[in-house]
Amino acid sequence: MVILRSLAQSLVYRVPGECEHYPACGSPRLHDLDLRVLRHPVEGRRTGFVSGCETCGLVFSNPQPSAAELAQLYSPGGDWRHGRAEEEPAADERGKERGTAWARMFDPIRSTLSVRSPHPGAAVMDFGCGPGKLLDSLQDSGWSTFGIEPAMGQAFRRHQRLEVVPDVPTFDLIVANHVLEHTPDPLRLLRQFAAASRPGGFVFISVPRLDTLPQHRDYKYVLKGHVHITAYTWPCLQVLLARAGWSPVAPPPEVTSKGRGRRTRSKLRVLARRVDGEIAVPPRPAQAARAAFRGYYAQHDGRPMLERMGLFRFAAVRAEARRRRARRASKIRTSEGVGQS
Ligand SMILES: [Zn+2]
Repeated sequence: MVILRSLAQSLVYRVPGECEHYPACGSPRLHDLDLRVLRHPVEGRRTGFVSGCETCGLVFSNPQPSAAELAQLYSPGGDWRHGRAEEEPAADERGKERGTAWARMFDPIRSTLSVRSPHPGAAVMDFGCGPGKLLDSLQDSGWSTFGIEPAMGQAFRRHQRLEVVPDVPTFDLIVANHVLEHTPDPLRLLRQFAAASRPGGFVFISVPRLDTLPQHRDYKYVLKGHVHITAYTWPCLQVLLARAGWSPVAPPPEVTSKGRGRRTRSKLRVLARRVDGEIAVPPRPAQAARAAFRGYYAQHDGRPMLERMGLFRFAAVRAEARRRRARRASKIRTSEGVGQS
């Protein structure tokens, strides 16, 4: 089985531009977890993969969108801004809730850092701050507020705009609320945050949660076209945080608020503290991702056998052949239709 699998991987089917090793950690130890349909064909091929890294546990769309495609997507005229309203309708995490409810997301560090009464000079950066609602609340509480947001400029009527993450210790708190799933290289970003953090500073991370996929079943939230291109289990996030010098202050809550009193298991939300020295990590971080896909498909009757067996490269060959047949059939139908009219 292992030989068949690696044979298929190397000979049978590949998409140009596929990751040979994943840039987030440089590991060449990748495995396939699922097929995915590519929005744009690459040299005539429309079947890509969801792959996972054995070393850090990260799951990602393979191939990844190019840097140019991502830059376009998050530019002021790009699709991201247009789709924003539908993307995350329950944006209470961005501080849209009235009053002080926004501060609840920082409850795990309340005893160390009070976000509602920070010390003089306390500085916060919201990476991907959107229109700046959370920064508004933080500023009202006394914070010096900084934001990074390529897609829109509203936030910077009130807050200081940054083009890049500073490479000197600057912030007591960094917020990356639904950011990591959009980036192909979360480890680089977490390391940039670590360089920009004052000693003992905190980072807040929230991402769609992969390990609870069998429970919440919102696959398209976890991995979504060119938008959500990396996916996270708790063990994976622990590894990435540790490698960047961040120690989680507590395990993530099982359920989080979705706004208007609704609760969800689909978010992985954690606060971590900047520390020097070794941070303990789970030994086999890729297992949780495998279990998530297994659990999800266990409730699916129609999964083709090749995919059930994990032979995704052969499954891709079949999917492409099926697609070609369907295309031919539709061409024949179209030309017959034209003939009759
Ligand atoms: Zn990795």
